[in-house]
Amino acid sequence: MNEVKLFSPATVANVSCGFDVLGFCLDAIGDEMIIRKTVEKGIKITKIEGYDLPFEVEKNVAGVSALALYHDANPDCGFEIEIYKHIKPGSGVGSSAASAAGSVYGMNLLLGSPYSPLELTAFAMKGEALASQCEHADNIAPTLFGGFTLVKSLDPLEVLQIPTPADLFAVVIHPQIEIKTADSRKILPESISLKNAITQWSNVGSLIHGLHTNDYELISRSLNDVVVEPFRSQLIPGFERIKRTALESGALGTGISGSGPSVFNLCKSEATAHKIEQAIRVDYKKQEIPFEIYVSKINLDGIKQIN
Ligand code: ADP
Repeated sequence: MNEVKLFSPATVANVSCGFDVLGFCLDAIGDEMIIRKTVEKGIKITKIEGYDLPFEVEKNVAGVSALALYHDANPDCGFEIEIYKHIKPGSGVGSSAASAAGSVYGMNLLLGSPYSPLELTAFAMKGEALASQCEHADNIAPTLFGGFTLVKSLDPLEVLQIPTPADLFAVVIHPQIEIKTADSRKILPESISLKNAITQWSNVGSLIHGLHTNDYELISRSLNDVVVEPFRSQLIPGFERIKRTALESGALGTGISGSGPSVFNLCKSEATAHKIEQAIRVDYKKQEIPFEIYVSKINLDGIKQIN
């Protein structure tokens, strides 16, 4: 095998109460990538379609993560990377994570899979660090593991796979505005009150319990964020409108996807997901901001080979 074609999915990080630790994987949107073995040593990005991103290996997250694996494996060959970008960079649904994970996942397959998903996560985090100036895995982990993941710690790196109730669906709306990751970080408080901390960790615990026990009611009551959302939602025009419309149409909960501007809704059943999608589609037009909207199953497999 000298070449692999991949589907590298979009992901939702934070999931309301799980700031910086929780994430889940989407099915309806993702990038495609081709990774090819070459006789010539080194890493090259030979094609990027969809969005304007750097071809320089050190400036592209896919290249940076590829180099991290390459230096560790020291193989007798090189690799070419082609990126077919469908996830808009800066959309808040793990565009950079899809690329960072894709290159290392493909290289690992071509090398005979010497690395575990956790080791691939560590390489991919080096790429993510280029996009967000700090190493984090809350998008990388669901991309590579699929389903819901919890990043228990970064040092040592520990990722927990959380079960996904079979009927859980996501509706993600992406208002076409730009929010700089730096701005969405800057707006956060340095410290939080003990009262809010207690509410937040109670919600994280009960969300995990709800996911384990298929308790949709409990999932719904846990999808609350008293720490980050009150600040970041100010950067997303019409956030409260999306939330109200989604809840009225049967959503279990609504929150900011990653650092925004995308907003995710979780619900039970595909029919409800389409009902929410339609309602948001009609209502958000009043906001007069162009948007994309996706209905997606939770992707249990994560990144996968498609050739
Ligand atoms: P998202 O949450 O959608 O991944 P980020 O702000 O984390 O958005 O990442 C996007 C940033 O990473 C942009 O500045 C973009 O130029 C940079 N970047 C570099 N390489 C890539 C790539 N292959 N895919 C996406 N973004 C990339």
